Amino acid sequence: MKRDGKFAGVTYDLDRSKEAKKMKVGILGYQGDFRFHAEAVKKAARNLKKEIDVSIVRSKSEIEPLTGIIIPGGESTVMGSMMTQAKTFELLKNKIQNGMVVLGTCAGCIILAKNITDVNVGQVAQETLGVLDIHVERNSYGPQKESFEADLSIPCLGSEPFRATFIRAPVITNINPGTEILASFEEKPVFIKQNNVLAVTFHPELLDDVRLHEYFLKMIQA
Ligand code: GLN
Repeated sequence: MKRDGKFAGVTYDLDRSKEAKKMKVGILGYQGDFRFHAEAVKKAARNLKKEIDVSIVRSKSEIEPLTGIIIPGGESTVMGSMMTQAKTFELLKNKIQNGMVVLGTCAGCIILAKNITDVNVGQVAQETLGVLDIHVERNSYGPQKESFEADLSIPCLGSEPFRATFIRAPVITNINPGTEILASFEEKPVFIKQNNVLAVTFHPELLDDVRLHEYFLKMIQA
């Protein structure tokens, strides 16, 4: 449509409504692996031929307009205390409970969980969002030198195995029966879904395969 004369206003409105419908995806950027996630989400959007807004978010005003968010891997204790300082726990919890799609990876999975312990110290006084009805044990595979990669079968991502990187990863030791298990490793769930909440205990953002990020974007779209 021509952008002049009597059509000018119409064109502008069309542009505006297209802009308003764009998925707005944030990566929580206090600490950890947020930049790799931003790149993976952009690549996934290109593969799906979707125009989306991707941003690194830290403040309430940046989180407010989002339709989806990734909580990255890193160090959940540090990330949690930065969330407390930025006073973003409550807003995130409300938005997730109201349907915002969230993907928590490794430390992000810990931040989402209702119950957590640590393999070395047992009970930990660590604030979490508590929106995912699971128990996770932090650092369950041991220290950094026990970090590893493994090929996972993840049927919802297709028949090709998914190479997963486990870095001082947690283990999900207990889940609510309503939670879907999308992948397991050594008989432990490593990729789960509870309504609009997705969590993996590994890092899906480090290698070229972005099928898991595509799955996340498709969930926001649905
Ligand atoms: N061990 C970390 C924690 O407890 C998680 C590690 C990771 O995200 N790679 O927060």
